[in-house]
Amino acid sequence: MADPVQGRTLRGIGVSPGTASGPVVQVAPPVRAPADEPATTDADAALVEVKAAFEAVALDLEERAARADDTAQQILRATVLIARDRSLSKAIAKHLATGTGKANAVHAGVEEFAAQFEALGGYFAERVTDLRDVGSRALAQVLGVPAPGIPELTGPSVVVAHDLAPSETATLDRSKVVAIVTSAGGRTSHTAILAAQMGIPAVVQVAEATALPVGTLVAVDGDAGEVVVDPSEDFVASLSVRRAKLTAALSGSAGPGVTRDGHAVALLANIGGVADAVEAGAQDLEGVGLFRTEFVFLSADTAPTLDEQAEIYRQVFAPFEGRRVVVRTLDAGADKPLAFADLGPEENPALGRRGLRLSAELPELLDTQLEALAVAARDTGADVRVMAPMVATAEEADWFARRVRENGLPKAGVMIEVPGAALRAEHVLADCDFGSLGTNDLAQYTMAADRMQGALSDLLDPWQPAVLDVIQAACRGAARVGRPMGVCGEAGGDPLLALVLVGMGVSSLSMAPSKVPLVRLALSLHSLPECQLLATLATSARTAVDGLEAVRAAAKGELTALV
Ligand code: PEP
Ligand code: MG
Repeated sequence: MADPVQGRTLRGIGVSPGTASGPVVQVAPPVRAPADEPATTDADAALVEVKAAFEAVALDLEERAARADDTAQQILRATVLIARDRSLSKAIAKHLATGTGKANAVHAGVEEFAAQFEALGGYFAERVTDLRDVGSRALAQVLGVPAPGIPELTGPSVVVAHDLAPSETATLDRSKVVAIVTSAGGRTSHTAILAAQMGIPAVVQVAEATALPVGTLVAVDGDAGEVVVDPSEDFVASLSVRRAKLTAALSGSAGPGVTRDGHAVALLANIGGVADAVEAGAQDLEGVGLFRTEFVFLSADTAPTLDEQAEIYRQVFAPFEGRRVVVRTLDAGADKPLAFADLGPEENPALGRRGLRLSAELPELLDTQLEALAVAARDTGADVRVMAPMVATAEEADWFARRVRENGLPKAGVMIEVPGAALRAEHVLADCDFGSLGTNDLAQYTMAADRMQGALSDLLDPWQPAVLDVIQAACRGAARVGRPMGVCGEAGGDPLLALVLVGMGVSSLSMAPSKVPLVRLALSLHSLPECQLLATLATSARTAVDGLEAVRAAAKGELTALV
């Protein structure tokens, strides 16, 4: 059959800048036991097949362990033991004996085992994810379909998937994944954010992505949002030339963020854990403007203890001695579910008990985190500030600020990502030390458009004049009570939009570290009055497209030649 996509340029949305080329590796979707599976008639024969499936999984894991580093080896060997566990095969045998089909018996046996592990707690509860992983691999063997998840990468690869969960993206091997392409996802979905943080070029909403044959060479342009299938050598070379041009333009970009006329704008990093902190700490940045603490615990089955958290936070703060680190307390819920902070299914999780609302239901979880942050802050020399996600009212902000201070942390702030809080920023910030605009959620809630829905990406565009009006209202409110307002949503990393935000009064911009040099250059080319003019142009436009065009036309040519 002819390849349906060969030799074409596939278009999507660029969500993480940069270019790369490499062979396609497809991520297989999750495997489910079919509802209409035939019943088991010969339980003994079925058990032999099921045991063979688990043994194949064990052998595969053993092979991987032999090639892995020390830590991964230990984890993989522990997982091999699960695949060969006799009690697990006995649990499955019981279901086969009652006539349950092979795949459904595997599923039922694994889930029974998972419930037992969870009841035992501690180490066992933490193995539930591994157990389910072994179970779904065995299920794939039984059904004769590819194993789910990201296959083992043997060299530089372009990872292609329908979508990736934030937990999958967070565990990608940065040394091998050169680019990410998905058919779903949106510009502010957490997978996109993680890719940018990891400095991996990414394009989402590429309709034909999952039809790309494994091994096909593709060139990914994370700036233009394009994927070129089987690119010519000339095209790959042209991408390198573009990279070199950008690198040359940015070579002089160094030091603190400042406009051409000397107005300081702190340039900060968004990070999601220790590895990000170590990388960002070594870069020319003024600190961290958003540490998404929930990213650290995406795969944890049980709540991390105070000591475990304090150790992680120490490692995150250590590279930033003398610099600011703005920590966001757990923003669990919606697309970032945490197993240990789950209040059950909700009809509309993005509008439900997520962020600070969830902390209010589980205050001991918040207190443990604040205590751990205070310990780590004392043990390191970082200027630690703590803020809450999803704050909607002044009462919520006051409640949070009090708890932060009671735990011995001096600076409390809130994210402004709910339009209600933005419009009332003056009151919401009255008892806080700072605000930080979460433009990703602010766009989602202002435009009533789910940020996970790539198809709604035009509505989620932060250039939407309504979103900019809400941001402006928040900046004015903060200014009235003399509180600094930063931006830590993706809008802060867009060099043209960064100028608009500074023109509105924003005093810090936090973004994926890879985006900092271009934003720094943009600031250095424009004065504060010029930024204010750009802000007026953007907010007086009728549409997002008009606003962007007006700003592009008025910004300095040295910048627009690069973006
Ligand atoms: C935001 O909403 O803009 C933000 C920074 O938080 P998150 O993307 O993690 O929801
Ligand atoms: Mg948010």
